[in-house]
Amino acid sequence: MLRRFRLEEPETVREVSELLARFGESAKVYAGGTELLLAMKEGLVQYERLINVKKLKGLNEVKLDNGTAHIGTLCTHRQLETAPVLQQRLPALVKLEKNVANVRVRQVGTLGGNLCFAEPHADPGILLMALGAKMVAEKSSSKREITAEAFFVDAYETCLEADEMLTEIQVPVPKAKSGVAYLKFGYLERPSVGVAVALTLSDDGKSVGDIKIAVGCAGPAPKSVPESEAILKGKSTDEAVHRLAEAGEVAGRAARAISDLHGSQEYKEHIVGVLLKRAFQNAVSQC
Ligand SMILES: Cc1cc2nc3c(=O)[nH]c(=O)nc-3n(C[C@H](O)[C@H](O)[C@H](O)COP(=O)(O)OP(=O)(O)OC[C@H]3O[C@@H](n4cnc5c(N)ncnc54)[C@H](O)[C@@H]3O)c2cc1C
Repeated sequence: MLRRFRLEEPETVREVSELLARFGESAKVYAGGTELLLAMKEGLVQYERLINVKKLKGLNEVKLDNGTAHIGTLCTHRQLETAPVLQQRLPALVKLEKNVANVRVRQVGTLGGNLCFAEPHADPGILLMALGAKMVAEKSSSKREITAEAFFVDAYETCLEADEMLTEIQVPVPKAKSGVAYLKFGYLERPSVGVAVALTLSDDGKSVGDIKIAVGCAGPAPKSVPESEAILKGKSTDEAVHRLAEAGEVAGRAARAISDLHGSQEYKEHIVGVLLKRAFQNAVSQC
């Protein structure tokens, strides 16, 4: 049962930050509520005050500026899957968003809420990490950009300070001769394993230029895998294909997989390898 709480209705980020600073752990930011209200109903967390941020202006827009997509924290999954600018410039993110939860959750749940809740079985953080996205966090007096790697600390834990809120996600739009793929596997409500690959090929299209790999869902938090990237970077595409099994094994270990209802540690590590291979080939085919 949902216990009584007070609803605060701030109109600016500064007011949100001041409320968070004033009421400390007894208050929490409330966006779509798809995670928060569920957790409160189940008695997993209790807050005396919820700070409704949905009325804050300008935080539910997607804009493209100078090769970077600026996504407001309040953009819902549904909004992102239908945004023309993302459909054109970041189709991998659109595809991911189309496959988050179900349409009822996507209609209400926000990207910011997904990232800030840091539930381990979540998709967007993994792809955003491979794309080199930055999270913008604000409080009363300051604003900072955080890399996706630094943002996710552990299961249900981000590096946001107590009086900070996430306001924007900045995603560099992939350049020419690049491919981006996110693949996930699972048979429960939420994904069991997710792997993202973002790469560019050399000018002659014969070798792997830059490559970013991120894995998630299998362990506590999304993680980039520079060790797997190093195995594939600079190799001819043929040689890279031959070394995918090795890169996949390394990524499987890096995922810090845990045995749970979704599968055993070994099984998840294996699936990371399978998905990495497919995501790499998919990304190369887009170049
Ligand atoms: C049935 C179901 C299936 C799902 N399946 C998937 C799936 O397949 N893949 C996937 O990725 N996700 C999945 N999800 C998760 C879903 O994406 C999230 O529930 C949703 O995006 C959370 O957004 P929200 O706006 O509702 O967050 P809220 O519930 O409002 O907030 C979640 C948390 O984030 C904090 N928060 C929210 N916004 C901010 C902010 N701007 N700054 C600081 N803190 C903030 C809140 O204080 C709270 O702690 C599923 C959820 C459900 C209920």
